[in-house]
Amino acid sequence: MSNIASKDIVIGIIGGGQLAMMMCEEAQKLGIKTFVYSDKDDSSAFLISDKKIKAEYENKEKISEFVDGVDVVTFEFENIPSHILEFIESKKTVRPNSRALRVSQNRLREKTFFNNLGIQTAKFFEVNNENDLKLGLEKFNYNAILKTSEFGYDGKGQFNISNKEDISEIVAEIKRNNKTNFTLEEKINFEREVSIVAARDVNNNISFYPLVENKHKNGILDVTIFPAENIDKLQIKAENIAKKTLNELDYIGVLAIEFFVVEEELIVNEFAPRPHNSGHFSIDACEYSQFYQAISAAAGNEVKPPVLKHTGKMVNVIGEEISCLKDLEKDPNIKIHDYKKLETAPGRKMAHYTILTD
Ligand code: ATP
Ligand code: MG
Repeated sequence: MSNIASKDIVIGIIGGGQLAMMMCEEAQKLGIKTFVYSDKDDSSAFLISDKKIKAEYENKEKISEFVDGVDVVTFEFENIPSHILEFIESKKTVRPNSRALRVSQNRLREKTFFNNLGIQTAKFFEVNNENDLKLGLEKFNYNAILKTSEFGYDGKGQFNISNKEDISEIVAEIKRNNKTNFTLEEKINFEREVSIVAARDVNNNISFYPLVENKHKNGILDVTIFPAENIDKLQIKAENIAKKTLNELDYIGVLAIEFFVVEEELIVNEFAPRPHNSGHFSIDACEYSQFYQAISAAAGNEVKPPVLKHTGKMVNVIGEEISCLKDLEKDPNIKIHDYKKLETAPGRKMAHYTILTD
């Protein structure tokens, strides 16, 4: 068993947003030290971590300093240059590993990965120029979503196409932004969207959270209902998909998979190699949160069955909505998590709260 004695270890976390912040909070409870590397001054995790470096992700000198100061490295977001994570991995253990990061970074690679495991995704078509786009749209009957293959999040870099007229505008927009690599996806007429969070440790133990239902507003997660209703059959299917994915990637850490539900079948949308916004309910509603699992797995310790103690919903607080939080503070069934960001911006995730209903 490759357990690292948890008390004296330092976990390095790449990225300094709210996910890193909540990982640091959990580490603190467990007596594990954290060292956060972020390229932004206004990084929520800097408020909690034991050590920090603020530098560009491509800065090898600073990255080396960071690597020298930690025992194991994890990350909170996908858009780390993959060669940097591979460089780190040549020196220290990275959990989850760089292959998981690479697969998740590119939608074409990600969908191919799932399809090779016999797991269904939306049908897709690689688009590198206007002609590809036309071919792909014919194939999907002008009912499709064009997404940048890399660096998209919160619905950014996506074009929703429902008729022929849409495309001239899109082509012009693509040329303006000098973008080349796209994934065209068939539009799925889903009944609902659900996701599963799962965690795997160094001894191959896997724990699964219940499926939750996600509702989006303006391309951003708005509300997560936990657990999703009527999930018995879907839960088993989701756990099987998560298990296959975790094992194939020899994955250590927390992973989330987003699905479309169509006629009681699951179609994978994408996965995130890290704790996920739709798993935030676990902080207040479970015995063991997704952040507990992320820190434990990275440290080489066991992941635990989460044990759901409450039902309810998690609500994201976006941009200016942060000014309305005061009204909720008095309700004992509402648990507020403020990310303490210095600047409010439209579309920026500022906080979340969890409403516990039983
Ligand atoms: P996030 O970071 O929030 O997960 P993202 O930028 O990676 O978002 P996706 O998850 O691919 O984007 O898409 C965002 C949302 O757009 C989905 O949750 C879903 O509601 C809708 N969507 C994406 N792809 C499709 C599709 N092929 N068919 C129907 N709806 C889709
Ligand atoms: Mg998504």
